[in-house]
Amino acid sequence: KLHNTILELKGNIRVFCRVRPLLHDTELGSTDGSVVSYPTSIESLGSGIDMTNNAQMYSFTFDKVFNQGASQGEVFEEISQLIQSALDGYKVCIFAYGQTGSGKTYTMMGNTECPEQKGLIPRSLEQIFQISQSLQSQGWKYKMQASMLEIYNETVRDLLSPGRPTSVDTSGGLTKQYSIKHDSNGNAVVSDLTIVDVCSSEHVSFLLQQASMNRSVGKTQMNEQSSRSHFVFTLKIVGVNERTEQQIEGILNLIDLAGSERLAKSGSTGDRLKETQAINKSLSALSDVIFSIAKKEDHVPFRNSKLTYLLQPCLGGDSKTLMFVNISPEATSVGESLCSLRFAARVN
Ligand code: ADP
Ligand code: MG
Repeated sequence: KLHNTILELKGNIRVFCRVRPLLHDTELGSTDGSVVSYPTSIESLGSGIDMTNNAQMYSFTFDKVFNQGASQGEVFEEISQLIQSALDGYKVCIFAYGQTGSGKTYTMMGNTECPEQKGLIPRSLEQIFQISQSLQSQGWKYKMQASMLEIYNETVRDLLSPGRPTSVDTSGGLTKQYSIKHDSNGNAVVSDLTIVDVCSSEHVSFLLQQASMNRSVGKTQMNEQSSRSHFVFTLKIVGVNERTEQQIEGILNLIDLAGSERLAKSGSTGDRLKETQAINKSLSALSDVIFSIAKKEDHVPFRNSKLTYLLQPCLGGDSKTLMFVNISPEATSVGESLCSLRFAARVN
């Protein structure tokens, strides 16, 4: 591994909180904005958040808190070192956690039509390809491979499988059982998963567009599946230095998690209930895994969900994990927001 990046990490797991702005007239009109506030003491500046529910205030501290005014560029500035470490040979996972509508996809993908509103996935790719090209002059040659999948109801779906968007699905046949195994090098391998050699950020952007189309096919058929499934983007980076014969192998996983809202309470039934149970199960499995890694426990329960089993090689050890907890600021979301903050405070 290269250690040319100085990372001032408190540990290998960090949690950032991001509060999205109020969006519509209804949101803007229905609240005085007082449910979320930020403590102003020096110690907590930029890392504290207070939330008020029924006149009671709850305070949380994270590694970093982005308020509603934080731009995509400012958020990326805080993670660009972490992205760089994937190019230095580390395994990196960045998650976005939060209820549907809290800004997970905005944080990860953003609005790709507008340069200022691009999210961290396109920005990360631009940085990685730009830096890897500039390192060519020092003898470095990189090979990059991308894959994109979603996990829905504990089933893996390939988002880059050609023909999938047009294939006629009469029997729920879109679901191919992609099984997850760990190979002898300790890498996770998903059988039949499409892995594409990529050469530029434009190339990956094109694939991301394809993946998102493949997701939205599911959306109409599968009950807004995209917010009910975990999206996992993986970039594998293999670098060889022709002069020094140094080798690195880094992995960057960027994960837009399923909405964390607790639908079970509202008495969902049938498919919806099954979905909710699968999401609750995998999100709590993720929390358990990250919590036990943070506590340096001997047994980490990776096998309790597809997501944690898939990401096992990239969690713990000397890999680096960042969790974004996305928060909706409006008063009607305060219950869900508190749940999200408590979830994140546990893994912090
Ligand atoms: P999620 O993926 O968690 O369901 P989205 O990312 O789709 O939520 O966000 C919901 C809406 O809020 C979208 O219209 C999105 O563009 C907008 N939004 C989210 N975060 C921000 C932000 N930081 N600034 C501006 N708009 C945002
Ligand atoms: Mg989303």
